[in-house]
Amino acid sequence: MKTTMRTLTCVVGGLMAIGLIQIRAGAQQAGPAPGESLSQSYRGSQRDNDAYQKVPPIKVFDNLYYVGPGDVAVWLIPTTDGLILVDSAQEPLVDHVLESIRKSGFDPRNIKYILLTHGHLDHFGGAGKIKAASGGTARVAALDEDWTLIETTYKNPGRGNQDRGVALMRDMVLREGQTLTLGKTELKVYKMPGHTPGSASFAFTVFDNGRPHKALVFGGPGQRNGVEGGTQFLESIRRLKRDFSDIEVPVHVHSYLNTYPVPGGGAIFEPAQKLAQRKPGEPHPFVDNKAWRAWLDVAEAGTVKYVEEAKLKTQQPRSN
Ligand SMILES: [Zn+2]
Repeated sequence: MKTTMRTLTCVVGGLMAIGLIQIRAGAQQAGPAPGESLSQSYRGSQRDNDAYQKVPPIKVFDNLYYVGPGDVAVWLIPTTDGLILVDSAQEPLVDHVLESIRKSGFDPRNIKYILLTHGHLDHFGGAGKIKAASGGTARVAALDEDWTLIETTYKNPGRGNQDRGVALMRDMVLREGQTLTLGKTELKVYKMPGHTPGSASFAFTVFDNGRPHKALVFGGPGQRNGVEGGTQFLESIRRLKRDFSDIEVPVHVHSYLNTYPVPGGGAIFEPAQKLAQRKPGEPHPFVDNKAWRAWLDVAEAGTVKYVEEAKLKTQQPRSN
């Protein structure tokens, strides 16, 4: 009898525990975890919550729309002669990107270029499907070094268990210093390695009710790969400080940058909330040269430290 009671108590206790877990999971679906910013939640506590990732598209400038899911940016640049897309997200959220393009009033069949910032799956995994949605005519473009990374992903199946989407092979190869023209829009291409060997950056002009601002997509905003990658990244940051300190609109590839987060919680959703409440005559919250220069200082200091630490690691004796 006593045993039965104990068993019953255990069963009831267990059920209560399961109930609590469900309540907690339910509460978590609603938003950021304690201490997390909204942008951070997309790459943190809500990382695997596909419904949560499906954020509505945002018109940020006359000619710049956010059409990505929450965790990785996809930028749409409409021109007088078709659409340019920067990055493509990855499965299972590529249909969401296509839907966001349509909701913004554009037709994926008019996409002429899909420019890839770098060869990591979260940025290129949707490009094959989006190219198909364009009718096969969109050119997918990346720098040479990162095409090699992308091709490796599709040539070596079985690495990891992520959905790699529609296969993608070398299409259009971008070059440092190249100008890409579509309609009246000009986009300048730069090679800024360090996150990957061929991270690309794109400079162009955005318009706020007709008023022009200098914008730049910095393609790989955090160092990787020890001394070599760190040193490359440091050179890229110093080049940005030297030649691109006048950028007014940093167009980031993630709202939350894991390596060097931007102040204010995030680079996209937080200013977008301000933009939604902006009154006529008020400044555009994405136009922020001061924040860009401050971010470059933080990134430079952080990378100097990263390279020093990476060098120390390579000097350590293998065993003792
Ligand atoms: Zn990356």
